[in-house]
Amino acid sequence: MQAPETVAGVAVDVAARLAAIGGRIAAAEAAAGRKPGSVALVAVAKTHPAAAARAAIDAGQRAFGENRVQEAKAKWPALREAAPDLALHLIGPLQTNKARDAVALFDVIETVDRPKLAAALAREMDRSGRRPSCLVEINTGAEAQKAGIHPAGADDFIAACRATYGLPVDGLMCIPPADDEPALHFALLAEIARRNGLARLSMGMTADFETAIQLGATHVRLGTAIFGPRRARGG
Ligand SMILES: *Cc1c(COP(=O)(O)O)cnc(C)c1O
Repeated sequence: MQAPETVAGVAVDVAARLAAIGGRIAAAEAAAGRKPGSVALVAVAKTHPAAAARAAIDAGQRAFGENRVQEAKAKWPALREAAPDLALHLIGPLQTNKARDAVALFDVIETVDRPKLAAALAREMDRSGRRPSCLVEINTGAEAQKAGIHPAGADDFIAACRATYGLPVDGLMCIPPADDEPALHFALLAEIARRNGLARLSMGMTADFETAIQLGATHVRLGTAIFGPRRARGG
């Protein structure tokens, strides 16, 4: 048997998994009566080596997610040379002091979750002229330890992102509590987006993306289904 680390083996696996996932997304769109191609797949490459991401690029995948600025900075500038049209999404918590790197590196920042960060991103966009699209992360389960805006404060925060900070906010993102029915959280996120006139909904991961598509996801974020189990992080 081929060792899972070999580049050729990774490429075959990643291409086959992407094809299978594409089929499942299409089936879920059809089942929900949604237009073919209305859901974008964001391939979450965190902890996986550049070779795995490269295999996905070679298979035609163009949207990718990373949850750490440092890891993205090490991995993606070289990969972008191979595929200048790819879109890199930040899906992990962002420290204010990394706003500069985040604005420089990412095309979509999915985790805008507090006024101080919104202000830092706005400053950096003004300074650099780069304007990655922004999603507001909502803590739909109102979990104490979790990032994201409390649902009760969502409308005010979205309004402030637009009016006070002038951020290009065009959607919402959530990570439901691990032990809860995800459908309730997806429906809540969709409702907050609807009443705020936001078109993009980033919701659904490997375990629940078909439910998310049923409830209106425009972006699903899949890691394990494409790249296999995550690696331990190196130093
Ligand atoms: C890691 C991660 C994912 C991907 O999770 P899988 O279950 O491996 O598909 C999606 N969204 C966020 C925010 C993540 O951190």
